Amino acid sequence: MIIVMKKGVSKEEISKVLKEVKKCGLKTHLSIGKEKTIIGMIGNGVAVSPAHFHLFSGVEDVLRVSKPFKLASREFKPEKSVIQINGVSLGGENIPIMAGPCAVESREQILETALKVKEAGATILRGGAFKPRSSPYSFQGLKEEGLEMLAEAKEKTGLSIVTEVMTAEHVPLVGKVADILQIGTRNMQNYPLLEAAGKYKKPVLLKRGMMATLEEFLMAAEYILSNGNPNVILCERGIRTFEKYTRNTLDLSAVPLLKELSHLPVCVDPSHATGSRSLITPLSKAAIAAGTDALIIEVHPHPEKALSDGAQSLNLEEFSKFMEELRPVAEAVKRRI
Ligand code: PEP
Ligand code: MN
Repeated sequence: MIIVMKKGVSKEEISKVLKEVKKCGLKTHLSIGKEKTIIGMIGNGVAVSPAHFHLFSGVEDVLRVSKPFKLASREFKPEKSVIQINGVSLGGENIPIMAGPCAVESREQILETALKVKEAGATILRGGAFKPRSSPYSFQGLKEEGLEMLAEAKEKTGLSIVTEVMTAEHVPLVGKVADILQIGTRNMQNYPLLEAAGKYKKPVLLKRGMMATLEEFLMAAEYILSNGNPNVILCERGIRTFEKYTRNTLDLSAVPLLKELSHLPVCVDPSHATGSRSLITPLSKAAIAAGTDALIIEVHPHPEKALSDGAQSLNLEEFSKFMEELRPVAEAVKRRI
């Protein structure tokens, strides 16, 4: 249930309601918006009468949230969430572009990529140091060494870093370098990892499980939110279908639908969604038209030599052209790149 407070409600009125919710054995979640202050009551099956809370001063309404996800829902927070990443807003008019290689492979590779993607207008550098590979025989990433290279790229360019964390134990290690912790498709339902990322509080790029429904996706986000971290970015990266010409199928309808269901910002990953470099630009344009708040693109100085995902990576020149092509599309929908 959520308690909607009246406009202009006082701190004392809010604190009395919070105390009462706790007395009922429930957790509270306070959301102070521009228009509305909302108190979420979170707990398992404890019967609380809405009428009881109507008696408190400052309470406008008490509502049951109809969806299984609560904190992620628009009912709980009607306004869009905007996440700040080192002075870059994600979820507002601006559409930040995250770009970089699938995996950090060497110091030269990540530094060259970082400089060039920055020059082209990207604001966030991607690159996996810990790589979740489908085969145990494939390149698994440079791990700690890769994180150090990302830290150097960040220092040299000022770009923020998004990089994947695969286990709960690694959250503080990866979080030292990452400005955004990436939780990959294979780990979308790794609940201890979601809880650890929730407690750590740095922004999280949560990728949709390759076979997850949107409800399961939002329930995974709910794990992070309910552990105290409101900064979750939902990333649509394609789902498994019967189609074989593409690696996955980009579920473009997920973009406006997630934004209807949730206040959280949405990102699209056309590289993993398609597996094919030629589809990155058209699908990025479509994603912007559909309302995405960010894009994450694989870029490599020499995709033909990449240790992972070369076929779905743009080279540096292609990336710069890609950015030019995207700008007018963003302007057409009153957004900015
Ligand atoms: C990645 O971003 O390199 C990655 C492994 O993505 P996903 O988890 O979507 O497959
Ligand atoms: Mn990849």
